[in-house]
Amino acid sequence: MDQSLREACGIVGVYNVPNAAEAIYLGLHALQHRGQESAGIVVCNGHTMHSRKGMGLLSRVFGPQDLAHLRGHTGVGHVRYSTTGASKPQNTQPLVLDYSAGLVAVAHNGNLINARALRRECEARGSIFQTSTDSEVIVHLMAQPDHADRPDSLAHCLRRHVRGAYALLVQRTDRIVAARDPQGFRPLSLGRLEGGYMVASETCAFDQAGAEFLREVEPGELVTVDETGLHSERFVPEREVRPAMCIFEFIYFARPDSVLLGESVHTVRKRLGVQLAREHPADADVVVAVPDSGNSAAIGYAQESGLPYDRGLIRNHYVGRTFLNPVPGERSRQARLKHNVVQDVVRGKRVVLVDDSLIRGTTLQSLVQFVRAAGATQVHLRISCPPNRYACYYGIDFPTREELIAAHRSREEIEALLSLDSLRYLSLEGLQAAAPGAGGFCTACFGGDYPVPPADLMEDKHRLEAHGAVTEETVAGT
Ligand code: SF4
Repeated sequence: MDQSLREACGIVGVYNVPNAAEAIYLGLHALQHRGQESAGIVVCNGHTMHSRKGMGLLSRVFGPQDLAHLRGHTGVGHVRYSTTGASKPQNTQPLVLDYSAGLVAVAHNGNLINARALRRECEARGSIFQTSTDSEVIVHLMAQPDHADRPDSLAHCLRRHVRGAYALLVQRTDRIVAARDPQGFRPLSLGRLEGGYMVASETCAFDQAGAEFLREVEPGELVTVDETGLHSERFVPEREVRPAMCIFEFIYFARPDSVLLGESVHTVRKRLGVQLAREHPADADVVVAVPDSGNSAAIGYAQESGLPYDRGLIRNHYVGRTFLNPVPGERSRQARLKHNVVQDVVRGKRVVLVDDSLIRGTTLQSLVQFVRAAGATQVHLRISCPPNRYACYYGIDFPTREELIAAHRSREEIEALLSLDSLRYLSLEGLQAAAPGAGGFCTACFGGDYPVPPADLMEDKHRLEAHGAVTEETVAGT
Protein backbone atom coordinates (compact mmCIF):
# COMPACT_ATOMS: atom_id res chain seq x y z
CA MET A 1 0.00 0.00 0.00
CA ASP A 2 1.80 3.09 -1.19
CA GLN A 3 -0.37 5.56 0.70
CA SER A 4 -2.48 4.09 3.44
CA LEU A 5 -6.10 3.56 2.71
CA ARG A 6 -7.77 3.53 6.06
CA GLU A 7 -10.47 1.24 7.25
CA ALA A 8 -13.24 3.07 9.04
CA CYS A 9 -13.67 0.97 12.16
CA GLY A 10 -13.46 -2.29 14.05
CA ILE A 11 -16.20 -3.51 16.39
CA VAL A 12 -16.44 -6.15 19.12
CA GLY A 13 -19.35 -7.30 21.28
CA VAL A 14 -19.70 -9.93 24.01
CA TYR A 15 -22.69 -11.41 25.82
CA ASN A 16 -22.60 -13.29 29.12
CA VAL A 17 -18.83 -13.28 29.53
CA PRO A 18 -17.50 -12.94 33.12
CA ASN A 19 -15.11 -10.06 32.39
CA ALA A 20 -16.65 -8.38 29.37
CA ALA A 21 -14.33 -5.36 29.35
CA GLU A 22 -11.18 -7.47 29.22
CA ALA A 23 -12.55 -9.68 26.43
CA ILE A 24 -13.58 -6.63 24.40
CA TYR A 25 -10.21 -4.99 25.01
CA LEU A 26 -8.39 -8.07 23.72
CA GLY A 27 -10.65 -8.20 20.67
CA LEU A 28 -10.15 -4.51 19.91
CA HIS A 29 -6.41 -4.94 20.34
CA ALA A 30 -6.46 -7.41 17.46
CA LEU A 31 -8.56 -4.97 15.40
CA GLN A 32 -6.40 -1.90 15.98
CA HIS A 33 -5.42 -1.92 12.27
CA ARG A 34 -9.06 -1.01 11.46
CA GLY A 35 -8.95 2.30 13.33
CA GLN A 36 -6.39 4.24 15.35
CA GLU A 37 -8.06 7.61 15.96
CA SER A 38 -10.18 6.67 18.96
CA ALA A 39 -11.29 3.72 21.05
CA GLY A 40 -14.17 2.97 23.41
CA ILE A 41 -15.77 0.23 25.47
CA VAL A 42 -19.27 0.14 27.01
CA VAL A 43 -20.21 -2.66 29.42
CA CYS A 44 -23.47 -3.51 31.13
CA ASN A 45 -24.24 -5.45 34.30
CA GLY A 46 -27.88 -6.02 33.40
CA HIS A 47 -29.12 -2.70 34.75
CA THR A 48 -26.64 0.06 34.09
CA MET A 49 -24.01 0.85 31.46
CA HIS A 50 -20.48 2.04 32.09
CA SER A 51 -18.27 3.45 29.38
CA ARG A 52 -14.83 4.78 28.70
CA LYS A 53 -13.84 6.39 25.43
CA GLY A 54 -11.03 8.57 24.22
CA MET A 55 -8.84 9.70 21.36
CA GLY A 56 -5.86 7.67 20.20
CA LEU A 57 -4.79 4.06 20.29
CA LEU A 58 -6.46 1.55 22.57
CA SER A 59 -3.37 1.40 24.78
CA ARG A 60 -3.56 5.16 25.27
CA VAL A 61 -7.24 5.19 26.20
CA PHE A 62 -7.22 2.18 28.56
CA GLY A 63 -4.90 1.40 31.45
CA PRO A 64 -5.29 -1.63 33.77
CA GLN A 65 -7.30 0.37 36.30
CA ASP A 66 -9.68 1.61 33.63
CA LEU A 67 -10.64 -1.91 32.66
CA ALA A 68 -11.13 -2.88 36.30
CA HIS A 69 -13.69 -0.10 36.67
CA LEU A 70 -15.72 -1.36 33.73
CA ARG A 71 -17.65 -4.14 35.44
CA GLY A 72 -20.22 -6.09 33.47
CA HIS A 73 -20.85 -9.34 31.64
CA THR A 74 -22.07 -7.83 28.36
CA GLY A 75 -20.68 -5.04 26.24
CA VAL A 76 -19.57 -3.53 22.95
CA GLY A 77 -16.36 -1.84 21.84
CA HIS A 78 -15.11 0.19 18.92
CA VAL A 79 -11.90 1.46 17.33
CA ARG A 80 -12.43 4.27 14.87
CA TYR A 81 -11.00 5.96 11.85
CA SER A 82 -13.31 8.75 10.71
CA THR A 83 -14.78 8.76 7.23
CA THR A 84 -17.90 10.72 8.11
CA GLY A 85 -17.86 12.96 11.13
CA ALA A 86 -14.65 14.67 12.13
CA SER A 87 -11.94 13.12 14.27
CA LYS A 88 -12.98 14.62 17.59
CA PRO A 89 -13.92 13.36 21.05
CA GLN A 90 -17.69 13.58 20.76
CA ASN A 91 -17.65 11.31 17.71
CA THR A 92 -15.95 8.44 19.53
CA GLN A 93 -17.95 5.23 19.75
CA PRO A 94 -19.75 3.28 21.08
CA LEU A 95 -22.44 5.96 21.21
CA VAL A 96 -24.52 5.73 24.39
CA LEU A 97 -28.02 7.22 24.51
CA ASP A 98 -30.99 6.99 26.84
CA TYR A 99 -34.53 7.22 25.43
CA SER A 100 -38.02 6.00 26.21
CA ALA A 101 -37.13 2.36 25.54
CA GLY A 102 -34.09 2.54 27.83
CA LEU A 103 -30.32 2.70 27.47
CA VAL A 104 -28.74 1.80 24.17
CA ALA A 105 -25.09 1.63 23.02
CA VAL A 106 -24.16 1.47 19.33
CA ALA A 107 -20.92 0.51 17.57
CA HIS A 108 -20.88 0.86 13.77
CA ASN A 109 -18.43 0.01 10.96
CA GLY A 110 -19.31 1.40 7.52
CA ASN A 111 -20.92 4.46 5.93
CA LEU A 112 -24.65 5.13 5.62
CA ILE A 113 -25.20 6.71 2.22
CA ASN A 114 -28.55 8.32 3.11
CA ALA A 115 -27.49 9.70 6.51
CA ARG A 116 -28.12 13.31 5.49
CA ALA A 117 -31.76 12.76 4.58
CA LEU A 118 -32.35 10.60 7.65
CA ARG A 119 -30.81 13.17 9.94
CA ARG A 120 -32.92 15.95 8.43
CA GLU A 121 -36.08 13.88 8.97
CA CYS A 122 -35.18 13.15 12.59
CA GLU A 123 -34.31 16.79 13.31
CA ALA A 124 -37.61 17.91 11.80
CA ARG A 125 -39.31 15.65 14.34
CA GLY A 126 -37.38 17.12 17.26
CA SER A 127 -34.25 14.96 17.53
CA ILE A 128 -31.16 16.68 18.89
CA PHE A 129 -27.95 15.08 17.71
CA GLN A 130 -24.89 14.76 19.94
CA THR A 131 -22.35 13.92 17.24
CA SER A 132 -21.63 14.55 13.58
CA THR A 133 -21.33 10.84 12.73
CA ASP A 134 -23.69 9.02 10.40
CA SER A 135 -24.07 6.23 12.99
CA GLU A 136 -26.19 8.31 15.38
CA VAL A 137 -29.15 8.47 13.01
CA ILE A 138 -29.82 4.78 13.68
CA VAL A 139 -30.54 5.45 17.35
CA HIS A 140 -32.67 8.51 16.60
CA LEU A 141 -34.69 6.49 14.11
CA MET A 142 -35.27 3.81 16.75
CA ALA A 143 -36.37 6.49 19.21
CA GLN A 144 -39.01 8.02 16.91
CA PRO A 145 -42.46 7.73 18.54
CA ASP A 146 -43.80 5.45 15.80
CA HIS A 147 -40.83 3.07 16.22
CA ALA A 148 -39.79 3.18 19.85
CA ASP A 149 -42.46 0.82 21.18
CA ARG A 150 -41.98 -1.82 18.51
CA PRO A 151 -40.09 -4.90 19.73
CA ASP A 152 -38.46 -5.02 16.30
CA SER A 153 -37.61 -1.31 16.12
CA LEU A 154 -34.01 -1.87 14.95
CA ALA A 155 -34.98 -4.37 12.24
CA HIS A 156 -37.79 -2.07 11.15
CA CYS A 157 -35.50 0.96 10.89
CA LEU A 158 -32.81 -0.94 9.00
CA ARG A 159 -35.36 -2.41 6.59
CA ARG A 160 -37.35 0.75 6.00
CA HIS A 161 -34.85 3.58 6.26
CA VAL A 162 -31.12 2.84 6.40
CA ARG A 163 -29.08 2.47 3.19
CA GLY A 164 -25.38 1.84 2.72
CA ALA A 165 -22.70 -0.06 4.57
CA TYR A 166 -23.10 -1.18 8.17
CA ALA A 167 -21.77 -3.89 10.38
CA LEU A 168 -23.58 -2.95 13.55
CA LEU A 169 -23.62 -3.85 17.23
CA VAL A 170 -26.45 -2.58 19.43
CA GLN A 171 -26.36 -3.22 23.15
CA ARG A 172 -29.38 -3.02 25.44
CA THR A 173 -29.37 -3.82 29.15
CA ASP A 174 -30.66 -7.35 28.49
CA ARG A 175 -29.16 -8.27 25.11
CA ILE A 176 -26.83 -7.47 22.26
CA VAL A 177 -27.86 -7.35 18.62
CA ALA A 178 -25.56 -7.76 15.60
CA ALA A 179 -26.64 -6.75 12.09
CA ARG A 180 -25.07 -6.61 8.65
CA ASP A 181 -26.40 -4.65 5.68
CA PRO A 182 -28.00 -6.58 2.79
CA GLN A 183 -24.78 -6.28 0.74
CA GLY A 184 -22.53 -7.34 3.62
CA PHE A 185 -19.95 -4.68 2.69
CA ARG A 186 -18.07 -5.00 5.98
CA PRO A 187 -17.25 -8.33 7.65
CA LEU A 188 -18.79 -9.50 10.94
CA SER A 189 -18.35 -12.88 12.62
CA LEU A 190 -19.89 -14.79 15.53
CA GLY A 191 -18.03 -16.86 18.12
CA ARG A 192 -18.40 -18.62 21.49
CA LEU A 193 -16.47 -17.40 24.51
CA GLU A 194 -16.53 -18.80 28.05
CA GLY A 195 -20.11 -20.04 27.83
CA GLY A 196 -21.23 -16.78 26.22
CA TYR A 197 -20.94 -15.21 22.78
CA MET A 198 -18.56 -12.88 20.98
CA VAL A 199 -19.12 -10.86 17.78
CA ALA A 200 -16.25 -9.13 15.96
CA SER A 201 -15.28 -7.50 12.67
CA GLU A 202 -12.59 -10.12 12.08
CA THR A 203 -11.80 -13.56 13.45
CA CYS A 204 -8.33 -12.47 14.61
CA ALA A 205 -10.23 -10.85 17.53
CA PHE A 206 -11.52 -14.30 18.52
CA ASP A 207 -7.99 -15.72 18.50
CA GLN A 208 -6.79 -12.91 20.75
CA ALA A 209 -9.64 -13.30 23.25
CA GLY A 210 -9.70 -17.12 23.20
CA ALA A 211 -13.09 -17.37 21.48
CA GLU A 212 -14.16 -20.13 19.11
CA PHE A 213 -15.35 -19.08 15.65
CA LEU A 214 -18.92 -20.17 14.87
CA ARG A 215 -19.87 -18.49 11.60
CA GLU A 216 -20.19 -15.14 9.83
CA VAL A 217 -23.23 -12.92 10.29
CA GLU A 218 -24.90 -13.12 6.87
CA PRO A 219 -25.71 -10.07 4.73
CA GLY A 220 -29.20 -8.90 5.70
CA GLU A 221 -29.16 -10.92 8.93
CA LEU A 222 -29.90 -9.67 12.41
CA VAL A 223 -28.68 -11.81 15.33
CA THR A 224 -29.97 -11.25 18.86
CA VAL A 225 -28.26 -12.80 21.87
CA ASP A 226 -30.19 -12.73 25.15
CA GLU A 227 -30.86 -14.98 28.15
CA THR A 228 -32.83 -17.39 25.95
CA GLY A 229 -29.91 -17.90 23.54
CA LEU A 230 -29.04 -16.83 20.02
CA HIS A 231 -31.81 -15.87 17.60
CA SER A 232 -31.41 -15.10 13.92
CA GLU A 233 -33.76 -13.29 11.57
CA ARG A 234 -33.63 -11.77 8.08
CA PHE A 235 -34.63 -8.12 8.28
CA VAL A 236 -34.99 -7.76 4.50
CA PRO A 237 -36.64 -10.15 2.02
CA GLU A 238 -34.30 -12.69 0.43
CA ARG A 239 -34.62 -10.96 -2.96
CA GLU A 240 -33.11 -7.78 -1.50
CA VAL A 241 -29.99 -9.57 -0.23
CA ARG A 242 -27.30 -8.93 -2.83
CA PRO A 243 -23.90 -9.82 -1.40
CA ALA A 244 -21.25 -7.27 -2.33
CA MET A 245 -18.56 -7.67 0.30
CA CYS A 246 -15.67 -5.23 -0.05
CA ILE A 247 -13.02 -7.11 -2.02
CA PHE A 248 -10.40 -4.79 -0.56
CA GLU A 249 -10.80 -6.65 2.74
CA PHE A 250 -8.96 -9.49 0.98
CA ILE A 251 -6.51 -7.26 -0.86
CA TYR A 252 -5.41 -5.05 2.02
CA PHE A 253 -7.70 -4.23 4.95
CA ALA A 254 -8.25 -7.44 6.89
CA ARG A 255 -5.43 -8.97 8.88
CA PRO A 256 -3.75 -11.89 7.08
CA ASP A 257 -4.48 -14.19 10.04
CA SER A 258 -8.24 -13.54 9.85
CA VAL A 259 -10.60 -15.96 8.14
CA LEU A 260 -13.17 -14.50 5.72
CA LEU A 261 -15.61 -16.57 3.65
CA GLY A 262 -13.94 -19.72 4.96
CA GLU A 263 -10.33 -18.94 4.00
CA SER A 264 -7.44 -17.20 5.67
CA VAL A 265 -6.78 -13.79 4.19
CA HIS A 266 -3.08 -14.70 3.86
CA THR A 267 -3.95 -17.71 1.68
CA VAL A 268 -6.15 -15.58 -0.56
CA ARG A 269 -3.44 -12.91 -0.89
CA LYS A 270 -0.88 -15.55 -1.87
CA ARG A 271 -3.31 -16.76 -4.51
CA LEU A 272 -3.57 -13.19 -5.85
CA GLY A 273 0.23 -13.27 -6.19
CA VAL A 274 0.10 -16.61 -8.01
CA GLN A 275 -2.49 -15.25 -10.43
CA LEU A 276 -0.44 -12.06 -10.89
CA ALA A 277 2.64 -14.12 -11.84
CA ARG A 278 0.60 -16.10 -14.38
CA GLU A 279 -0.79 -12.95 -15.95
CA HIS A 280 2.38 -10.87 -15.78
CA PRO A 281 5.66 -12.77 -15.48
CA ALA A 282 8.88 -10.74 -15.34
CA ASP A 283 12.37 -11.48 -16.65
CA ALA A 284 14.05 -10.83 -13.29
CA ASP A 285 16.34 -12.18 -10.54
CA VAL A 286 14.50 -11.66 -7.26
CA VAL A 287 11.01 -10.96 -5.86
CA VAL A 288 10.80 -8.32 -3.11
CA ALA A 289 7.64 -7.39 -1.19
CA VAL A 290 6.67 -3.88 -0.17
CA PRO A 291 6.31 -4.66 3.54
CA ASP A 292 3.92 -5.50 5.08
CA SER A 293 1.09 -4.99 2.62
CA GLY A 294 2.74 -6.88 -0.24
CA ASN A 295 4.20 -9.79 1.75
CA SER A 296 1.63 -12.51 1.06
CA ALA A 297 1.16 -11.67 -2.64
CA ALA A 298 4.94 -11.54 -3.14
CA ILE A 299 5.30 -15.06 -1.68
CA GLY A 300 2.63 -16.29 -4.11
CA TYR A 301 4.29 -14.48 -7.02
CA ALA A 302 7.68 -16.01 -6.21
CA GLN A 303 6.25 -19.52 -5.82
CA GLU A 304 4.49 -19.38 -9.17
CA SER A 305 7.29 -17.66 -11.09
CA GLY A 306 10.11 -19.82 -9.68
CA LEU A 307 12.06 -16.67 -8.78
CA PRO A 308 13.65 -16.42 -5.30
CA TYR A 309 11.76 -14.36 -2.68
CA ASP A 310 13.93 -12.22 -0.46
CA ARG A 311 13.57 -9.39 2.04
CA GLY A 312 14.91 -6.44 0.13
CA LEU A 313 12.87 -3.80 1.95
CA ILE A 314 12.61 -3.49 5.73
CA ARG A 315 9.84 -1.55 7.40
CA ASN A 316 10.32 0.30 10.67
CA HIS A 317 7.29 -0.65 12.79
CA TYR A 318 7.95 1.97 15.44
CA VAL A 319 7.56 5.14 13.42
CA GLY A 320 4.12 6.18 14.66
CA ARG A 321 3.35 9.82 14.13
CA THR A 322 6.23 12.07 13.19
CA PHE A 323 6.53 15.78 13.67
CA LEU A 324 8.99 16.58 10.94
CA ASN A 325 7.93 19.67 9.06
CA PRO A 326 7.04 18.88 5.47
CA VAL A 327 9.81 20.15 3.22
CA PRO A 328 8.87 20.88 -0.38
CA GLY A 329 10.51 18.38 -2.73
CA GLU A 330 11.48 16.08 0.15
CA ARG A 331 8.57 13.74 0.18
CA SER A 332 10.96 10.78 0.17
CA ARG A 333 12.01 11.67 3.72
CA GLN A 334 8.69 10.35 5.04
CA ALA A 335 9.12 7.13 3.07
CA ARG A 336 12.71 6.83 4.32
CA LEU A 337 11.48 6.99 7.91
CA LYS A 338 9.40 3.87 7.30
CA HIS A 339 11.48 1.84 4.87
CA ASN A 340 15.08 0.92 4.21
CA VAL A 341 16.71 -1.29 1.57
CA VAL A 342 18.80 -4.41 2.20
CA GLN A 343 21.50 -3.56 -0.32
CA ASP A 344 22.90 -7.10 -0.65
CA VAL A 345 19.51 -8.34 -1.84
CA VAL A 346 19.00 -5.86 -4.68
CA ARG A 347 22.52 -4.80 -5.77
CA GLY A 348 23.13 -5.77 -9.40
CA LYS A 349 19.72 -7.50 -9.61
CA ARG A 350 16.61 -7.15 -11.72
CA VAL A 351 14.00 -6.73 -9.00
CA VAL A 352 10.27 -7.55 -9.07
CA LEU A 353 8.64 -5.33 -6.46
CA VAL A 354 5.22 -6.60 -5.35
CA ASP A 355 2.58 -4.53 -3.55
CA ASP A 356 -1.13 -4.97 -2.93
CA SER A 357 -2.30 -1.69 -4.51
CA LEU A 358 -1.16 1.59 -6.02
CA ILE A 359 -3.23 4.50 -4.73
CA ARG A 360 -1.48 7.89 -4.97
CA GLY A 361 1.92 6.50 -5.91
CA THR A 362 3.99 8.88 -3.80
CA THR A 363 5.47 6.31 -1.40
CA LEU A 364 6.15 3.80 -4.16
CA GLN A 365 7.89 6.47 -6.18
CA SER A 366 10.30 6.93 -3.29
CA LEU A 367 10.76 3.20 -2.72
CA VAL A 368 11.65 2.65 -6.36
CA GLN A 369 14.29 5.39 -6.04
CA PHE A 370 15.71 3.72 -2.91
CA VAL A 371 15.92 0.32 -4.63
CA ARG A 372 17.63 1.82 -7.69
CA ALA A 373 20.04 3.82 -5.52
CA ALA A 374 20.96 0.58 -3.75
CA GLY A 375 22.15 -0.86 -7.06
CA ALA A 376 19.15 -2.61 -8.67
CA THR A 377 19.62 -2.74 -12.44
CA GLN A 378 15.87 -2.96 -13.18
CA VAL A 379 12.67 -2.49 -11.16
CA HIS A 380 9.43 -4.16 -12.27
CA LEU A 381 6.36 -3.29 -10.19
CA ARG A 382 3.55 -5.85 -9.87
CA ILE A 383 0.27 -4.89 -8.17
CA SER A 384 -2.08 -7.60 -6.86
CA CYS A 385 -5.29 -5.75 -7.81
CA PRO A 386 -6.53 -3.72 -10.81
CA PRO A 387 -5.93 0.06 -11.10
CA ASN A 388 -7.92 2.07 -8.53
CA ARG A 389 -9.83 4.71 -10.48
CA TYR A 390 -12.90 5.48 -8.33
CA ALA A 391 -13.61 6.61 -4.77
CA CYS A 392 -15.19 4.46 -2.06
CA TYR A 393 -18.44 5.47 -0.35
CA TYR A 394 -18.81 2.47 1.92
CA GLY A 395 -16.56 3.16 4.87
CA ILE A 396 -13.03 3.39 3.51
CA ASP A 397 -11.06 6.62 3.60
CA PHE A 398 -10.27 6.78 -0.11
CA PRO A 399 -8.56 9.72 -1.83
CA THR A 400 -10.58 11.76 -4.31
CA ARG A 401 -10.48 10.63 -7.93
CA GLU A 402 -8.07 13.45 -8.73
CA GLU A 403 -5.59 12.05 -6.21
CA LEU A 404 -5.72 8.46 -7.51
CA ILE A 405 -2.65 8.00 -9.70
CA ALA A 406 -4.46 5.68 -12.13
CA ALA A 407 -7.66 7.72 -12.49
CA HIS A 408 -6.40 9.87 -15.35
CA ARG A 409 -3.08 8.31 -16.37
CA SER A 410 -2.16 5.44 -18.67
CA ARG A 411 0.01 2.60 -17.43
CA GLU A 412 2.88 3.93 -19.55
CA GLU A 413 2.57 7.38 -17.97
CA ILE A 414 2.74 5.86 -14.49
CA GLU A 415 5.78 3.78 -15.47
CA ALA A 416 7.53 6.99 -16.51
CA LEU A 417 6.40 8.89 -13.41
CA LEU A 418 7.66 6.18 -11.03
CA SER A 419 10.83 5.39 -13.05
CA LEU A 420 9.79 1.77 -13.57
CA ASP A 421 11.02 -0.69 -16.16
CA SER A 422 7.51 -2.15 -16.16
CA LEU A 423 4.23 -1.87 -14.26
CA ARG A 424 1.52 -4.52 -14.40
CA TYR A 425 -1.75 -4.96 -12.49
CA LEU A 426 -3.76 -8.07 -11.68
CA SER A 427 -6.86 -8.16 -13.88
CA LEU A 428 -10.34 -7.82 -12.37
CA GLU A 429 -11.16 -11.28 -13.71
CA GLY A 430 -8.01 -12.67 -12.08
CA LEU A 431 -8.86 -10.97 -8.80
CA GLN A 432 -12.39 -12.36 -8.75
CA ALA A 433 -11.19 -15.84 -9.74
CA ALA A 434 -8.67 -15.87 -6.88
CA ALA A 435 -11.15 -14.59 -4.26
CA PRO A 436 -13.05 -17.23 -2.25
CA GLY A 437 -16.74 -18.05 -2.42
CA ALA A 438 -19.10 -17.74 -5.33
CA GLY A 439 -18.51 -14.08 -6.12
CA GLY A 440 -20.73 -11.22 -5.05
CA PHE A 441 -18.05 -8.64 -4.25
CA CYS A 442 -17.99 -4.87 -4.38
CA THR A 443 -15.29 -3.85 -6.87
CA ALA A 444 -16.53 -0.28 -7.37
CA CYS A 445 -13.20 1.45 -6.75
CA PHE A 446 -11.82 -0.32 -9.86
CA GLY A 447 -14.70 0.07 -12.30
CA GLY A 448 -17.13 2.57 -10.75
CA ASP A 449 -19.96 0.04 -10.59
CA TYR A 450 -21.41 0.96 -7.19
CA PRO A 451 -23.69 -1.70 -5.63
CA VAL A 452 -25.69 1.02 -3.79
CA PRO A 453 -25.75 4.34 -5.68
CA PRO A 454 -23.84 6.98 -3.73
CA ALA A 455 -25.91 10.00 -4.84
CA ASP A 456 -25.46 13.10 -2.73
CA LEU A 457 -23.06 11.38 -0.40
CA MET A 458 -20.34 13.98 -0.50
CA GLU A 459 -22.85 16.75 0.15
CA ASP A 460 -24.06 14.66 3.06
CA LYS A 461 -20.54 14.28 4.41
CA HIS A 462 -19.79 17.99 4.21
CA ARG A 463 -23.01 18.90 5.93
CA LEU A 464 -22.34 16.56 8.85
CA GLU A 465 -18.85 18.00 9.18
CA ALA A 466 -20.20 21.52 9.28
CA HIS A 467 -22.85 20.67 11.82
CA GLY A 468 -21.98 21.95 15.27
CA ALA A 469 -22.14 19.09 17.75
CA VAL A 470 -21.19 19.40 21.40
CA THR A 471 -21.08 16.74 24.10
CA GLU A 472 -18.74 15.54 26.81
CA GLU A 473 -15.70 13.55 25.72
CA THR A 474 -16.82 10.55 27.66
CA VAL A 475 -20.46 9.56 27.90
CA ALA A 476 -20.66 8.26 31.41
CA GLY A 477 -22.83 5.29 32.20
CA THR A 478 -25.64 5.66 34.60
FE1 SF4 B 1 -14.22 -1.90 -0.92
FE2 SF4 B 1 -13.56 -0.52 -3.13
FE3 SF4 B 1 -16.12 -1.31 -2.72
FE4 SF4 B 1 -15.03 0.58 -1.17
S1 SF4 B 1 -15.46 0.74 -3.39
S2 SF4 B 1 -16.30 -1.15 -0.47
S3 SF4 B 1 -12.86 -0.10 -1.00
S4 SF4 B 1 -14.30 -2.63 -3.05
